[in-house]
Amino acid sequence: MNLNFTAEELAFQQEVRQFLADNLPQHIIDGTANNGSVFVEKDIALEWQAILVAKGWAVPQWPVEHGGTQWTPAQKYIFSRECYQAGAPMLIPLGLLMLAPVIMAFGTEQQKQEYLPRILNGEHYWCQGYSEPGAGSDLASLKLKAERQGDEYIVNGSKIWTTHAHLADHIFCLVRTDPQVKPQAGISFLLVELDSPGITVEPIITMAGDHEVNQVFFDDVRVPVANRIGEENQGWSYAKYLLEFERGGGFSAHRIRHELDNLKQLIQHAHADNPHFDASGAISHKVARLEIDLKALEITELRILSDVSGGGNPGPESSILKISTVNLEQAVNELSVDVLGYTGFEMNPVAGGNPVRANYTASIVPRYLNNRAASIFGGSQEIQRNIIAKMVLGL
Ligand SMILES: Cc1cc2nc3c(=O)[nH]c(=O)nc-3n(C[C@H](O)[C@H](O)[C@H](O)COP(=O)(O)OP(=O)(O)OC[C@H]3O[C@@H](n4cnc5c(N)ncnc54)[C@H](O)[C@@H]3O)c2cc1C
Repeated sequence: MNLNFTAEELAFQQEVRQFLADNLPQHIIDGTANNGSVFVEKDIALEWQAILVAKGWAVPQWPVEHGGTQWTPAQKYIFSRECYQAGAPMLIPLGLLMLAPVIMAFGTEQQKQEYLPRILNGEHYWCQGYSEPGAGSDLASLKLKAERQGDEYIVNGSKIWTTHAHLADHIFCLVRTDPQVKPQAGISFLLVELDSPGITVEPIITMAGDHEVNQVFFDDVRVPVANRIGEENQGWSYAKYLLEFERGGGFSAHRIRHELDNLKQLIQHAHADNPHFDASGAISHKVARLEIDLKALEITELRILSDVSGGGNPGPESSILKISTVNLEQAVNELSVDVLGYTGFEMNPVAGGNPVRANYTASIVPRYLNNRAASIFGGSQEIQRNIIAKMVLGL
């Protein structure tokens, strides 16, 4: 694989840099740096999304007929890297990168026309209704009941851990339409408006102090049959297709690169404060290990991107990516907290903040706490290993 960019690619890199210098507002950079959660604040994400939509650069992954860019894998890679380096936020992927590919692959023409433009322009803000109390790793055992009455389904039950349900206006849901057959065969995929009568959203506050996840209750909620994606009882295959994008759709390495750069800056501050800091070299050794692992992740992402750009979907290899990404990012989070030491708690914004340090230190402890959940959401690390054993290694 040739890792050097061509002259055209370097020119594109300059174009992206110039665009970011001219269009990425400082308050969006600050909001991103101070964010300790998995997604930035909705307002910030949507403002940046609108700026990218105006330029035609919001969804490089989409086919060009729906607003994609037709960029090469190298261009997508360069764009993503430059965005992170400039301090731009990740766009919220729930609608753009998770639901949209499913609608494109399995939705009707009418569904494509109705939903895709609204996902792109931010008019619709989606959340994901997969997990239930009692159905997480064993997702196929889900029970949210959808009984057909004429042109509608009557939906009863609940979804849990629903990220941003309190901010969203729509939820895509896996529902049980046939309880008599084997679990995977009786599931359908429904698109539901969150302001439908009978829906209640209750907050769940995490150990990081965030309100990010929720439980969503459905009490005789009426959903038009026209809101179903694809065939009745075929929802399991659409659900699995979506999960491949959730686990392996983007460039996490660039985000981790940004966090590792922040960690190095933190280490420089620690050296300036105390010349004996890391006298044994143990921290430098760990940073070198993280650098090597990050390089390996970057190359793996490039390889998978190259496959996907040929028209495929990420496939079970996305599970390998999820495991490596989570392990690496959590290791960077953990070392950052180690370097901060006890001052990390002073700098936690919940405890009042610390005006002496740079902004990015304020998010280190919240980010560490928040990112513990990455081993669980999107399918736990153990479940990813089961998938690799079965689908990749054929065990
Ligand atoms: C912060 C956060 C955000 C989330 N956001 C969403 C969302 O927006 N939408 C959504 O639908 N869901 C969401 N989830 C739910 C997430 O997908 C589930 O938590 C996850 O699938 C695990 O399910 P569970 O919590 O029921 O745990 P369980 O399935 O009960 O698992 C408990 C433990 O047992 C292990 N385990 C279970 N089965 C096996 C097995 N067969 N082999 C080996 N080990 C096993 C698991 O790895 C885990 O460690 C979110 C979760 C979190 C923490």
